[in-house]
Amino acid sequence: MKDFFLSIIIPAYNEEEVLNQTIERLTAVMEREEYHYELLFVNDGSKDATLRLLEEASAKDERIKYLSFSRNFGHQAAVSAGIDACTGDAVVIIDADLQDPPEVIPQMVALWQEGNDVVYGKRKSRDGESFFKTFTAKAFYRVLNSLSSVDIPLDTGDFRLIDRKVADVLRGLPEKNRFLRGLVSWIGFRQVPCEFSRDARAAGETKYTMKKMINLAIDGILSFSSAPLRLMAKFGFLIVFISAALFVYTIVSLCLGSTAAGWASLMTVITFFGGTNFVAIGLLGEYVARIYDEAKGRPNYIVDKRGNFKDE
Ligand code: UDP
Ligand code: MG
Repeated sequence: MKDFFLSIIIPAYNEEEVLNQTIERLTAVMEREEYHYELLFVNDGSKDATLRLLEEASAKDERIKYLSFSRNFGHQAAVSAGIDACTGDAVVIIDADLQDPPEVIPQMVALWQEGNDVVYGKRKSRDGESFFKTFTAKAFYRVLNSLSSVDIPLDTGDFRLIDRKVADVLRGLPEKNRFLRGLVSWIGFRQVPCEFSRDARAAGETKYTMKKMINLAIDGILSFSSAPLRLMAKFGFLIVFISAALFVYTIVSLCLGSTAAGWASLMTVITFFGGTNFVAIGLLGEYVARIYDEAKGRPNYIVDKRGNFKDE
C-alpha cells in the first residue's frame, strides 16, 4: 500500500449506461497501483437508475461513496461538492463517461509525487466528438485567455489532480457560478500538464447540452474577465466619434446647400444603435445578476443522500 490517500471525484448525471463500467475500470487501476483510495460519486439529480446503481455499488464496497443532489445543479456544482466532501491527500476529478481514461491517473500521481500541486489533463486529441464541439471548445479557450488576466491552459477540461492544499483553497472560495478550471489556474501553485488522448464516450450521450455549454462559456468569461464591459465602453466612444463626424458632415452639407437625403440609412443607424444599446444593457445585467447571486448567498448545491461516509 502507498502511504497517501487518493480521492477520486466522479460527477454523474444520467450515467446508468456506463456507470458500472466506470466503477470497474477505476477500481482496476486503483487495485493495480495499490492505492489507498475512495471513489466519490456525485449524483447530480439523475433521472435514471444512476442513484440505484451507486447505492448497490457502495453497499458492496465501502471505498465507493456517493453524494446525491436534490436536483440537477450542474457539473461544476457536482465537482465542487466532491471537493468539499473528500479527504484525500490528492484529489482526482474525472468524468463518469470514461472519456478521461482512468489509466492516466497513475501518471498524474507520479507528477504529483514529484512535487507538483496541480496536474491538469491536456487533451492531445478528442475522439468521437463532432468537429463543431472541438472547434467551439478551441475557440472558447483562446477567446477566454485573450480576455482574462489568468492564463487558463488551452485544451484542458476538469480532468486533473489537485493537491490537498489546492482543494482546501477551493473549498474556502465562496464564489457562485463556478468555473473550476479557471479558479484552479487563478489559485496558482505548481501546475503541470499531463497529456492524454480523450476517448469517445463509452456509452450514452453527452449530458452537456448546447445550453449547458453556452452557460459554462458565459460563466467562464464573466467570472474571469470584465473585458466585455470595457469593450462596450470603447465601442461607445467609437460611436461618439462617428456621430461627431456625421454631425460635422451634416452641417457642412447644409451650408453648401445640399441636403443629405435618406430614410433607409437613417433607419439602419437607429436600429443598429438600438441593438447595441440592448447588448450593452444585457451585458451589464449579466454582471449585476452575478452580484445578486453572490448577495443571496444560496449554496451551490443541496445534498439529499450520502452513502458510505464515516461520520454518518
Ligand atoms: N454532468 C453532471 N451534471 C450535468 C451535466 C454533466 O454531473 O448537468 C457530468 C456527466 O455525468 C459527466 C461529466 O459531467 O460525468 C461530463 O459530462 P459529459 O460527458 O456529458 O460532457 P462532454 O464530455 O460531452 O463535454
Ligand atoms: Mg463526456
